[in-house]
Amino acid sequence: MRTGRQLLSFLLPGALIGLALIAASLHPGAATLLASFSPYFPYAMVLVALLLGWRFDRSRLVFATVIIALGGGLLPYFGQRPDATARIVEDAVITLLPLNLALIALLKERGIFSWHGLLRWGFILAQPLGIALLIYQQQYYWLGIFDTPLLPIDALDQLDLRQPALLALLIALGISLYQAIRLQNPIEHGLFWSVLLCGYALIFVDAEALRLALLGGALLILIITVIELSYSMAYHDELTGLPGRRALNHALLKLGGRYTIAMLDVDHFKKFNDTYGHDIGDEVLKMVAIKMGKVSGGGKAFRYGGEEFSVVFPGKSLRDALPHLEQIREAIASAAFTVRSNQRPRQKPQQVKHRSSETVQITISIGAAERGEAARDPQAVIKAADKALYRAKKAGRNRVAA
Ligand code: GH3
Ligand code: MG
Ligand code: MG
Repeated sequence: MRTGRQLLSFLLPGALIGLALIAASLHPGAATLLASFSPYFPYAMVLVALLLGWRFDRSRLVFATVIIALGGGLLPYFGQRPDATARIVEDAVITLLPLNLALIALLKERGIFSWHGLLRWGFILAQPLGIALLIYQQQYYWLGIFDTPLLPIDALDQLDLRQPALLALLIALGISLYQAIRLQNPIEHGLFWSVLLCGYALIFVDAEALRLALLGGALLILIITVIELSYSMAYHDELTGLPGRRALNHALLKLGGRYTIAMLDVDHFKKFNDTYGHDIGDEVLKMVAIKMGKVSGGGKAFRYGGEEFSVVFPGKSLRDALPHLEQIREAIASAAFTVRSNQRPRQKPQQVKHRSSETVQITISIGAAERGEAARDPQAVIKAADKALYRAKKAGRNRVAA
């Protein structure tokens, strides 16, 4: 279930847009249509990406846009020149652009004009300036590295494919795929497809207008992923990764005539925090949330706030939902949570010395209620579930009450 969702997030929208554009570029009619977008589409994408990156404070989107716009802008500008610089600039852009884009996948969000940001501006701009300087000083030996055959493969030579650019693209794809799999974040997913589309456009597409349209497509992927990330941040709780209160309110609006809502609360959590410290309390909340996220029976778990969670069962009666709630309670009560105690509570500072692992036992209490005569709307059902939760606590905790 989880890997399915991760795969979907990896493929959408990046693979959809990227592969569709690559397929279109291979079809003569579609390619002509795509190329006809060129005067406006890539420029519009640059503008939107810069605005979005600035307003949403997504420095990596800004840097990716600058890299693509710079490379994409230099190509037609120098491409017209009759002298050797045209080929040199093209070789350099084709090799460096995908690599620079992939490097963004390795960076953290650190602001556009912070010290980190300025360093990144410097790194990006130093490359065209360095190449311009080499051209000016006629250092063709160094400039030749972008067009050196690395392997004696005739086929590549005959196709006029630059081997350094191909190697750079493979490295860039490797880096961005590694980060996409490791971090499972829309931006890293988007960067991989963006690198793929840019690499394809630069290495395999010669027609200028089509190439620019594809680079615009690479920006479109990044724009959508930033919007997606912002949406998911608004609806998900940062600590546990579960959907948060806003998502719950949204889900309540979509409920029909039959549903059950459960309120879940960690037992004696205040005492747990006092004993182990707030950080370990957070760790435990994350682990508890993972168990809740696996609720069966069509239930959906939310972090209500603090150490309280809700599970909504759309279309399910209380009777049908109860076994699934009992299952979560049991799964948590019987789990041995391992916490790394590098931070002991303030009372025992002498034990802070080394990191050690410890298993702790956690239980939760659950109150559940269904929609019915007594509780006709979601808020009333939540209130009834809260009352049931109170009864579960009263009755000794680590139990489900309805
Ligand atoms: P009970 O069994 O009656 O639920 O006891 P309790 O101590 O869990 O109840 P109470 O609701 O009074 O305490 C909740 C505590 O949960 C208070 C706070 O210290 C802790 N808590 C709430 N949110 C967080 C959080 O995000 N992280 C951590 N570490 N602790 C939290
Ligand atoms: Mg509580
Ligand atoms: Mg509690």
